[in-house]
Amino acid sequence: NSFLDLHLSRPLLRACEALGYTKPTPIQAACIPLALTGRDICGSAITGSGKTAAFALPTLERLLFRPKHRPAIRVLILTPTRELAVQIHSMIGKLAQFIPDIRSCLVLGGLSTKAQEASLRSLPDIVVATPGRMIDHLRNSMSVDLDDLAVLILDEADRLLELGFDAEIRELVRLCPKRRQTMLFSATMTSQVDELIKLLLDKPLRLSA
Ligand code: AMP
Repeated sequence: NSFLDLHLSRPLLRACEALGYTKPTPIQAACIPLALTGRDICGSAITGSGKTAAFALPTLERLLFRPKHRPAIRVLILTPTRELAVQIHSMIGKLAQFIPDIRSCLVLGGLSTKAQEASLRSLPDIVVATPGRMIDHLRNSMSVDLDDLAVLILDEADRLLELGFDAEIRELVRLCPKRRQTMLFSATMTSQVDELIKLLLDKPLRLSA
């Protein structure tokens, strides 16, 4: 029960050490090895369980091997609120601190559209977004698309649905490649969340912690 057992590369192990993480939380121990196989995953996990690193570490591991000569948005993380997006973005910055060339950008309602548009056009590896604002950018910008997306992550899926983002999520998923890895996390597994899982995930592995 150590990070060393999880098949993560050195820069990620160093980041865990720098953050003072001595051993993986249960959701991390369950999620990381499975996520590294590329399978779709749905997890019931609450805030405080360490779920952010559970999806961020295997995703960063994948990004280490991306084709660097071809910049593109490769990971999209959808969250219900600005606060959660800011937290995830900050966590990714910490976990990626020893990988110099990975870029993550925030796309949120309430921030300047122009500045976000410029960051998106520079094709960051990772976008952490609230669904409404991400759709706006994709509708209005010719130079931003999700054609090279490798990983789609939905965090707090139950709250995304409670806040009425169902239609936006469906629209975003239509813009993602069919061949991708999808991970969905939710505190509660409602019938609406189950419907979303059926629509978005391909033979998902189910985890709980
Ligand atoms: P989360 O559930 O992702 O919001 O994480 C809750 C808190 O747990 C955050 O402050 C993380 O930095 C911390 N955390 C995540 N993984 C670990 C770990 N393996 N050991 C200790 N703390 C952790």
